[in-house]
Amino acid sequence: MLKSAEQFDAAIIGGGVIGCSIAWRLAQGGMRVVVIERGEVGREASYAAGGMLAPLAEADKADKFFHLAVASRALYAEFACELKEASGIDIEYRTEGTLYLSLTNEDDEELDHRWQWQHTAGLNVKRLNAECVRKLEPQVNERLRWALKFPDDHQVNNRQLMAALPLAAQKAGAEFLPYTEARELLIETHSRPETSHRRSDGLRRGASHKCHFSRRKLVELAPYYMRGLARRFQSRASPWPDGRD
Ligand SMILES: Cc1cc2nc3c(=O)[nH]c(=O)nc-3n(C[C@H](O)[C@H](O)[C@H](O)COP(=O)(O)OP(=O)(O)OC[C@H]3O[C@@H](n4cnc5c(N)ncnc54)[C@H](O)[C@@H]3O)c2cc1C
Repeated sequence: MLKSAEQFDAAIIGGGVIGCSIAWRLAQGGMRVVVIERGEVGREASYAAGGMLAPLAEADKADKFFHLAVASRALYAEFACELKEASGIDIEYRTEGTLYLSLTNEDDEELDHRWQWQHTAGLNVKRLNAECVRKLEPQVNERLRWALKFPDDHQVNNRQLMAALPLAAQKAGAEFLPYTEARELLIETHSRPETSHRRSDGLRRGASHKCHFSRRKLVELAPYYMRGLARRFQSRASPWPDGRD
């Protein structure tokens, strides 16, 4: 049976790869976590994806996001092992690299640009002619002109990932509330009760509400009580990393 809402330290809205990963890590850290998902857990973008861990194959510049994605990819092998241990599910982490094919003039231009900047930056990217590609992938599209190979870009089976993550999170103690839509987010703070109001971004501060969860149906008003966030409101001027009010 679901605990009373006030027994949770964190409520996560959305049971995709992001929500389930956060839930797993928070639960591992000893927090009492609930994941609120309006449909079936792990069946939206995270299920539809291709499982590519390919920061190089799709990057056109080395901006901060690129460096974050590369650093994240470097953690994936260990993450996959830990997840298998925790859930018993193999997410089929593969490291043979990614081929990016050129089939048209437009592709030529795009891949050439990628090759130029990545090669100049000393990144691990290789230019392969059609013959070399066919040796690697004999069934490749007949219109193939040439390709880039990104040996360090990896892959997982994202559907296995979305089976493993909720399971690992649950085993660590997280609770899941599927078929429940969060319609409103209210944050309780005791520090400035006089400022209770609904903000244009949907948050209301200074309010004191109990949480209500409604199983198997959409709830009209779901003031999920995020105790962890409320604590941050009490201890800091702003709970947001960029300091906004
Ligand atoms: C066709 C396709 C291919 C892709 N291929 C790749 C790829 O190869 N590699 C890659 O890295 N990325 C890929 N992506 C991107 C990747 O899928 C997303 O970046 C990732 O899944 C986002 O995870 P998420 O948890 O934020 O979103 P989601 O998996 O969409 O999860 C969000 C969840 O929140 C729920 N939700 C939303 N609002 C509410 C609410 N109010 N109350 C309750 N629940 C709510 C939704 O139902 C959903 O389940 C691809 C995406 C698509 C669509």
